[in-house]
Amino acid sequence: PYDVLVVGGGPAGASAAIYAARKGIRTGIIAERFGGQIMDTLGIENFISVKHTEGPKLAASLEEHVKEYDIDLMNLQRAKRLEKKDLIEIELENGAVVKSKTVILSTGARWRNVGVPGEAEFKNKGVAYCPHCDGPLFEGKHVAVIGGGNSGIEAAIDLAGIVKHVTVLEFMPELKADSVLQERLYSLPNVTVLKNVQTKEITGTDKVNGISYIERDTGTVQHIELQGVFVQIGLVPNTDWLGDTIERTRMGEIVVDKRGATSLPGVFAAGDCTDSAYKQIIISMGSGATASLGAFDYLIRN
Ligand code: FAD
Repeated sequence: PYDVLVVGGGPAGASAAIYAARKGIRTGIIAERFGGQIMDTLGIENFISVKHTEGPKLAASLEEHVKEYDIDLMNLQRAKRLEKKDLIEIELENGAVVKSKTVILSTGARWRNVGVPGEAEFKNKGVAYCPHCDGPLFEGKHVAVIGGGNSGIEAAIDLAGIVKHVTVLEFMPELKADSVLQERLYSLPNVTVLKNVQTKEITGTDKVNGISYIERDTGTVQHIELQGVFVQIGLVPNTDWLGDTIERTRMGEIVVDKRGATSLPGVFAAGDCTDSAYKQIIISMGSGATASLGAFDYLIRN
């Protein structure tokens, strides 16, 4: 069996595996797609000490760093079940069962898509999901934020300080965000809020040049010219496969303590799949290190 088995090969999982392997203990990684979300990211400018990089390049560096150590990398393998017996067992989609004394869950999350024409086509060409990451790319431009929940309104307030104008599109007749956020939003001079509207299409040629939406009460279609669209309708953790084995929040995020321990002894978690406050590469890597040290601590005590 492994001493530490990491499930997930994004920034959190890579960091956790390296920290474990450096203790000289038997370490493995199971990853559906090594690299994780950064494989879909173009420019990265907030990975501190690296002024600019690109996602696939960072993923290649992660893999190179992992391969410096004696780590079994089981790529293109999806975990489908976790069970604790004497050891912790992870069953893969292909039927194989991998056993370990401790497990670190780092299966990440995915942004919910609006699913309108243009969204997939213009991803990284004006369609963005992370205001902390991509906000500065739209300095001086007009952008839309789709979604009037807390994350959408936080994004709109954040972006309003950087871009020229922000238009918020909310499907329901009212915003769902906390009232303190709404008050702050409405106090800003460069924000327009459209409620009861349905996004119809993100338009563009080589990059985004506008958004079309339907006014739901009249059925009228409108079009606005703009350069960016931030989709903020939810971040979904990849944790469904865990069922009731481990405590998760209402949103499905794995609940962890300050050492990355979950409700099941010997099982730790890190990165975007957890209830950590913010979801970023540098934060995921830090929490991967924490969970790994937590697992090592557990191993020497049990
Ligand atoms: P992920 O990167 O999501 O990795 C999860 C891993 O788990 C993957 O290997 C996946 O294949 C695997 N996995 C999932 N389910 C299973 C399963 N059942 N079995 C086995 N493996 C599984 N952050 C920044 O800091 N700066 C940026 O500029 C930035 N830009 C971004 C741009 C985009 C388009 C996106 C989508 C995100 C961006 N982020 C950025 C956020 C950042 O990518 C994430 O916070 C980070 O990747 C989270 O790392 P993670 O390891 O927790 O999860």
